[in-house]
Amino acid sequence: MPSPTPGFSGSLFVVAAPSGAGKSTLVNALLAQEPGIKLSISTTTRPPRPGEQDGREYHFTTADDFVERAGREEFLEWAEVHGNYYGTSRLVVEKEMKAGTDILLEIDWQGARQVRKQFPQAAGIFILPPSIAALSERLNKRGQDEPHIIERRLLAAGGEIAHAPEFEYVIINEEFNVALSEMSAIVRATRSRFAQQAARNASLFAQLGIHAQQS
Ligand code: 5GP
Repeated sequence: MPSPTPGFSGSLFVVAAPSGAGKSTLVNALLAQEPGIKLSISTTTRPPRPGEQDGREYHFTTADDFVERAGREEFLEWAEVHGNYYGTSRLVVEKEMKAGTDILLEIDWQGARQVRKQFPQAAGIFILPPSIAALSERLNKRGQDEPHIIERRLLAAGGEIAHAPEFEYVIINEEFNVALSEMSAIVRATRSRFAQQAARNASLFAQLGIHAQQS
C-alpha cells in the first residue's frame, strides 16, 4: 500500500457508482455515524434538482465559470459526466487533509483516476447495485429527473460499471445495513493502516521509537 503523500495526514476515500446504486444514501449514513470524515462538496454545471441547495449537495455554477476555474487548476480533478461538468476543489481537500481530516469524494471513475495519480494511497470504493433491474427501478423511483435523462443515465451505468476493477473495494448494495457496515469497516481499516497511523500520530511513533521499514 502506498504511503500517504508527505504533509497530508488525513485519509482519502474515493467512492464511485453508477447513478441509482444508492451511493449518496449510503455515504450520508456513513458520515452520520463516522466522526472525523468530511464529504467534499463538488462544483457542477448541472442544474439543481428539486430540493437541492447551493453549497449543500453541490456548488452550482455556469459552464463558463467552470471552464475558467478548471483553466486556473482550481480543481483537484474534474470531468464531464452525463453532459455536465463536475469538479473537486483542490484547496478544500488539501487544506482538510493537511489538518488531518479524512475526506470522502463522491466522484466518477474519470475523476477517481486523476485523484489516484496525485494521492496513490486513496482508498477506492465502488458501489454496485444488486441487479440491472434494481438500478433501473431506483432511477425511476427517484422521480427527480426527466425520462430522457434517466435513459441516458441507465446507458451510462454500463460504462461506469466497466471501471469497477480499478477500485480496491467493492460493495454490493443489496441490503442497506450490510452495505453500510461494510463501508464503515473499510473506513476503519484504512485509518488503521501503518502508514496512515504513523502520519497521524508522528510524535507517539517517535516516542516509541517506531520507524517505517525501508523497502
Ligand atoms: P449527479 O448529477 O447524479 O449528482 O452525479 C452524477 C455523477 O457525477 C455521479 O457519478 C457523481 O459521482 C459524479 N460526480 C459528482 N461530483 C463529481 C466531481 O466532483 N467530480 C467527478 N469527476 N464526478 C463527480
